[in-house]
Amino acid sequence: MLRELSVINPATEELVATVPVTTPAEVDAAVRRAARAQEKWAALPPGDRARVLRRFAQVVEENTEPLADLELREAGHPLDSARWEAGNVRDLLDYAAGGVERLTGTQIPVAGGLNVTFQEPLGVVAVIAPWNFPMPIAAWGTAPALAAGNAVLLKPAETTPLTALRLARHALEAGVPEDLFQVLPGEGAVTGEALVDHPGVAKVVFTGSTAVGRRIAARCAAQTKRLTLELGGKSPNIVFADADLEAAAATAPGSFLDNAGQDCCARSRILVQASVYDRFMELLEPAVKSFTVGDPADPATRMGPLISAAQRERVRSYVPEDAPAAIRGEAPRGKGFWYPPTVLEGAPADRAAVEEIFGPVAVAIPFRDEAEAVRIANATDYGLSGSLWTRDIGRAVRVSRAVAAGNLSVNSHSSVRYWTPFGGFKQSGLGRELGPDALTAFTETKNVFISTESTSKSTSDNTGTSTEESK
Ligand code: NAD
Repeated sequence: MLRELSVINPATEELVATVPVTTPAEVDAAVRRAARAQEKWAALPPGDRARVLRRFAQVVEENTEPLADLELREAGHPLDSARWEAGNVRDLLDYAAGGVERLTGTQIPVAGGLNVTFQEPLGVVAVIAPWNFPMPIAAWGTAPALAAGNAVLLKPAETTPLTALRLARHALEAGVPEDLFQVLPGEGAVTGEALVDHPGVAKVVFTGSTAVGRRIAARCAAQTKRLTLELGGKSPNIVFADADLEAAAATAPGSFLDNAGQDCCARSRILVQASVYDRFMELLEPAVKSFTVGDPADPATRMGPLISAAQRERVRSYVPEDAPAAIRGEAPRGKGFWYPPTVLEGAPADRAAVEEIFGPVAVAIPFRDEAEAVRIANATDYGLSGSLWTRDIGRAVRVSRAVAAGNLSVNSHSSVRYWTPFGGFKQSGLGRELGPDALTAFTETKNVFISTESTSKSTSDNTGTSTEESK
């Protein structure tokens, strides 16, 4: 077991910080403290909890620059993206705060009394976050879980613990009670598993690779533990011949190069109708080549480095030297884990067209007609996101319904908004995050029947129920 994590700046390979890891014994102590804090938190009036979360959002807003700077240094994200990410944490907290007083139950008509439901908090929730969007993904779970009355133990990824630790500090400054939100840095196989296996943890929210997600699901099953999984993707970008090709080509680079392709929603399979394939590739080439790769602190930069040397090796393994690359962009040489934007030409069954690369590499594939486009789009175990470009509204609706993915985007590539539901079909996940039901996912529904029969009647009738009610 490691004693500390070394945080490396992926653009310079310099050591940014070392962070002590959390041992299994410390995980156990953290769960116990969190459970005590959660009881008090859940007992607070909803308006008081909402106010604390709004203050937390405010403190995050005031610290946008230092948070963005940390994200830039530990994850290599361009400054603008890093600022957006800090803003996203603020928005998630604000949105969740707005849900606290609206987390209502229902009143259901029944005979002989009043039937009401309550959304009870689960208790202690573990959020296990990946390195690709350390701040937003940590907040996707943390903000609604806290708002619904839970405590949160957040385990950031090994390579990116710094923004999470800073957010925990800001929570305390904002008045979030001590121990209610704790950050536990450490290795997945040690700290992460200790959290997953702890009987005091009621739910696990995991974002990361499908392989680890399956392992966590099996361990949660052993305790019937609640679980949300946000896993990998191999999302298609389908361009039909009738589309606005200029717009489709101009936006395609951002859809697979944002965050250097280390994005579970990356549109890394570009499916283009054969009749416009050559024209589309002509338009795509300058768009990819002008996607500036470089120093994340430079405002002109649109793409930074990959997170680590290991990740770069993984990406390289999909692009052998002699691979038929249709387009290759430029990336800095020397220190840093750089990799150039790359578009391969391929067939639907190629390894690069099937497996998640998690780097700035897309595969362009021609298709004949709508039926073939849908078949290729669905020929993957994943089902997270996808885009389609067409001017035919009927086709837009038909294809959106036919593609087996949780988040689709027509004539655009936007798919993750904190106020709309997000999650995957098939091997891309289990459950949904964000959106109007985000808080409910951190509660159990409790059903309570209150008899309105007079006490004398219920004592004289020792069942006190009718046939209808006893079911
Ligand atoms: P990963 O699965 O290795 O790690 C993710 C997190 O899980 C880290 O915090 C890690 O420490 C922890 N972990 C690892 N092994 C664990 C274990 N046995 N028990 C408990 N925790 C453990 O993935 P990664 O390398 O950080 O991220 C890349 C992958 O995540 C890609 O496949 C990507 O698509 C996926 N991802 C999915 C989404 C989504 O929303 N669907 C978002 C981001 C990343």
